[in-house]
Amino acid sequence: MSYVDEVFDLVVAKNPAQPEFHQAVKEVLESLRVVIEANEEKYRKDALLERLVTPERQLLFRVPWVDDKGQVQVNNGFRVQFNSAIGPYKGGLRLHPSVNLGIIKFLGFEQIFKNSLTGLPIGGGKGGSDFDPKGKSDREVMAFCQSFITELHKYIGADTDVPAGDIGTGAREIGYMYGQYKRLTGLYEGVLTGKGLSYGGSLARTEATGYGLLYLTEEMLKCNGKDIAGKTVAISGSGNVAIYAAQKAQQLGAKVVTVSDSTGWIYDPEGIDVDLLKEVKEVKRARLTEYAAARKSAEYHEKKNGEHGVWNVKCDVALPCATQNELDLEDAKALVANGCFAVAEGANMPTTMEATEYLQKNGVLFCPGKAANAGGVATSALEMSQNSERLSWTFEEVDSKLKGIMVNIFHSLDDAAKQYGMAGNYVAGANIAGFLKVADAMQAQGIV
Ligand code: NDP
Repeated sequence: MSYVDEVFDLVVAKNPAQPEFHQAVKEVLESLRVVIEANEEKYRKDALLERLVTPERQLLFRVPWVDDKGQVQVNNGFRVQFNSAIGPYKGGLRLHPSVNLGIIKFLGFEQIFKNSLTGLPIGGGKGGSDFDPKGKSDREVMAFCQSFITELHKYIGADTDVPAGDIGTGAREIGYMYGQYKRLTGLYEGVLTGKGLSYGGSLARTEATGYGLLYLTEEMLKCNGKDIAGKTVAISGSGNVAIYAAQKAQQLGAKVVTVSDSTGWIYDPEGIDVDLLKEVKEVKRARLTEYAAARKSAEYHEKKNGEHGVWNVKCDVALPCATQNELDLEDAKALVANGCFAVAEGANMPTTMEATEYLQKNGVLFCPGKAANAGGVATSALEMSQNSERLSWTFEEVDSKLKGIMVNIFHSLDDAAKQYGMAGNYVAGANIAGFLKVADAMQAQGIV
């Protein structure tokens, strides 16, 4: 049996009931097969792949907090410090009821390659909790965040592990966590990113993942003889990534016709009104029904079981920006049938493996999340640099660095795909380019 297959079997055996983690590892290892097989003896002797798929450290902890009725609630807390070969662990904190160890491990594993692709010195990590901030009062969210950090603060720091936002963790949650970290440690340091502008946050961090997604998509289209201007774009989600992806797409001259949340989706043939969407989602924290109520051209569709409405709409470019496995084979078929020619992932692993293969086989340009959504973590790393320098850069400075990073990422995965005889396969290109730097650093640092 080949080394790659052996290690994948080992991952399944040693990590039972973690299907998302298995899926992420399989996708990466399949792409790396050609690289691994060329160096099989050396990698096998050093157990390089076994070390790569095993987190350096996994923290699981209890998060007790008191709700507004005086009732004690208990959630599970997680931080997986996956790989620090090229820098301190860096990756977001997800707060969502679906969070479990397997989800955090899949996200942490992806983060290793994503962070490597940015060209910045950051290792891979991820964390979170099954706490659901939805429907909680500000005081309850604060109580949870303080309890979460009371445990986690022992293991993080500006030079060791720097968490950030993700689903359910926005500026409010980062603020409460930062305040508690500072209180417990007495340190005013860049330990969390996504901070508010008045206490060490970076301009353009809020916009970074969505903007970065569009910078990369624009470059991918340009290198394939196409232009984003004038194109129709379908977006899923209506959170941080989706909102700023829609905004930048429209600034680049495209028309965004869909957004969604976990209960429904909007089709707006006149183009999504981003200011209204921000008001509904960022200010009122309301459902998309409120968007539809305020805008004549918008149709609201309730989400039916197993149906992901946005992918059935006619579009040129699809940008999944909600959550994992939200675009399946049926959706991929609908996209191809409707003439969609490019998909770039704003979310982490939103496309199933079968859907990815179908899109690639049908000539759709496909860029995986670990490259396409790397703008968020890249700008987080820029926030770390500003915190270390005790300086703040202008929006334009950060935005232009972000654009440069996204364009470079696209070219590094395009080049890697070509170098290994898989031109146009950006999934393989991203995994290979991300892996080579990490593998080199791991080899150089000995058996640790
Ligand atoms: P938000 O919490 O701001 O928004 C998430 C959006 O996705 C919401 O519209 C939410 O709907 C929807 N959603 C979440 N879970 C589900 C689900 N199980 N089914 C259907 N819809 C769902 O998160 P972000 O925008 O920050 O993150 C979106 C994706 O992008 C995630 O995969 C995240 O890991 C990834 N990402 C985020 C980065 C960032 O900088 N924020 C960086 C890189 C990747 P509802 O409001 O109803 O819950």
